[in-house]
Amino acid sequence: MSKGVLTVVSGFSGAGKGTVMKRLLEKYDDCALSISVTTRKPREGEVDGRDYFFRTKEEVEAMIEADELLEYAQYVENYYGTPRSYVEEMLSKGKNVILEIEIQGAMKIKEKIPDTVLIFVTPPTIQELKDRLVGRGTETQEVIESRLKRASEEAEGIESYDYLLVNDVVEDCVDELHEIILSERRRASRN
Ligand code: 5GP
Repeated sequence: MSKGVLTVVSGFSGAGKGTVMKRLLEKYDDCALSISVTTRKPREGEVDGRDYFFRTKEEVEAMIEADELLEYAQYVENYYGTPRSYVEEMLSKGKNVILEIEIQGAMKIKEKIPDTVLIFVTPPTIQELKDRLVGRGTETQEVIESRLKRASEEAEGIESYDYLLVNDVVEDCVDELHEIILSERRRASRN
């Protein structure tokens, strides 16, 4: 069994990445999603160990110190990081591992593991992005503003990504994402 492909999926907060990921995992069992640690408080309905590992600042700092994170970043005043062991284990078992992380983390991963595939997911229009953020109803106005500001900063880094994926119809976006992963895997196995 060849080694799996490591794929990073980034996108503006509100781009619908969460929905795309959930559908991808339901539909395609060759893919595994890494679960991050974060110091952010859980949103309603989020479960520890499924959506994130919700940890204190001290706990995350101890993981950083022990080199247990493949990468980490600060995003709107919280730490987010990727536990190393799960990613390495799944890749060696032949799974295609997906990291749903922001741009700073994406750049760090690409530096460490150059054959990582970087995909940026975007909603079809900026208005749609705003509507999704507000419609989600989980964030305060202040947080929404910070996230939109962060989105415009992240837009400047888009050219570092290998693929730009427009999330208009979820099912199409999921299939396109999977097609990219498979073709990158075929390419890697030829090299
Ligand atoms: P949210 O608070 O909306 O769940 O996530 C905020 C941002 O943090 C999103 O852009 C998400 O992709 C990113 N993120 C989630 N986990 C990680 C991680 O482990 N590392 C990094 N660098 N970013 C992450």
